[in-house]
Amino acid sequence: MALRTPIYLDHHATTPIDPGVLSFLQEVQRDHFGNPASSGHAFGWAAARLVEEAREKVAGLIGGTAREIIFTSGATESDNLGLLGAARIYGGDGGHMVTTNLEHEAVRGPLEEFERRGGRVTVVQALPEGRVAAGDIAAAMEKDTILVSVMMAQNEIGTIQPVAEIGRICKQRGVLFHTDAAQAVGRIPVDVQRVGVDLLSLSSHKIYGPKGVGALYVRRRDPRVTLAPLHFGGGQERGLRPGTLNVPGIAAFGEACRLAGEVMADEAPRLRALRDRMWDTLKGSLDGVHLNGTIEERLPGNLNVSFEGIRAHQLLSALTVIAVSSSSACSSLETRPSAILTAIGVGDDLAAASLRIGLGRFTSGEEVDFASARIVAAVSGLRTPGQSSS
Ligand SMILES: *Cc1c(COP(=O)(O)O)cnc(C)c1O
Repeated sequence: MALRTPIYLDHHATTPIDPGVLSFLQEVQRDHFGNPASSGHAFGWAAARLVEEAREKVAGLIGGTAREIIFTSGATESDNLGLLGAARIYGGDGGHMVTTNLEHEAVRGPLEEFERRGGRVTVVQALPEGRVAAGDIAAAMEKDTILVSVMMAQNEIGTIQPVAEIGRICKQRGVLFHTDAAQAVGRIPVDVQRVGVDLLSLSSHKIYGPKGVGALYVRRRDPRVTLAPLHFGGGQERGLRPGTLNVPGIAAFGEACRLAGEVMADEAPRLRALRDRMWDTLKGSLDGVHLNGTIEERLPGNLNVSFEGIRAHQLLSALTVIAVSSSSACSSLETRPSAILTAIGVGDDLAAASLRIGLGRFTSGEEVDFASARIVAAVSGLRTPGQSSS
């Protein structure tokens, strides 16, 4: 059977909706238009029930309880609500927070806003393997530290951070712990109890659900975390996120979580094996290839590889049959080196010569072998003297 191209290998940017999730979304969209806040009739009850079922499914995937889940428009909003909502309550918009230089802009942005409002932020540098040391987080804490924010898995290099260790340190010191788990949830087991996390952000479209929906986990026991809302209006989501709920999106997100929990034990080793096969092909066929970030403690479907003597944008132009990214999705048209690769000590030339490859649920072995061969051919072609090097 012929391969359908282009082949999608950019699952850290977003994932296609799972067919089962899509049919559930369509059914809810068609049959349940009620407003969950309409508590006086059956249309409202049906919609409210769908939302509560979704809340159970999301909580179930991360080991929380339904009452600890606040639905949002995605991980960006969850990060904003968690960080700025905690800053207001626990620091009066002042005080100190600790984070890392690996964070997504959805965390960097609200932390910059926290600083504009009068707070202080210490940014801990990651080690060259692409992980932060829990001890460095501990050492960065000050007397008035109110919160630590460390992502669970990095979106470019896929490295998994020592969040359980960091959670223990935070608990000992009575400091809140937030983690952006948008890349981790659904790909590796996530348990808010084991990690000892107080606030956790997740996103539907990274786990084969629809775009524009996500959640913030807010711990209710030991300790009970209080947040200030960013928006004001109705009382939805305990007043933390007012506005009529996106019922079809939320229901589908819940279903995506349920499904992810069901298939993860098979999906993760399958993707890890395909990923390892691709890396073996690349390093076996080409000189001057470097894996960015440790191969251990890494998301199963992630590769991030730099090629000596290449610029990433040339490589992407030569690789239109496969959809990969040169670093984070938003900067792929620029030749600027990836800030994350620079942050872990990769030199500018190699940091501007990297591909992020993200395998996903519907990626086949045939697609991986085809993509590997195309990458090898493109890199060899670009390195051959006399080839255009625009
Ligand atoms: C994708 C992503 C986000 C943003 O999520 P949205 O739901 O698109 O707002 C935040 N953090 C990380 C680590 C991500 O990968």
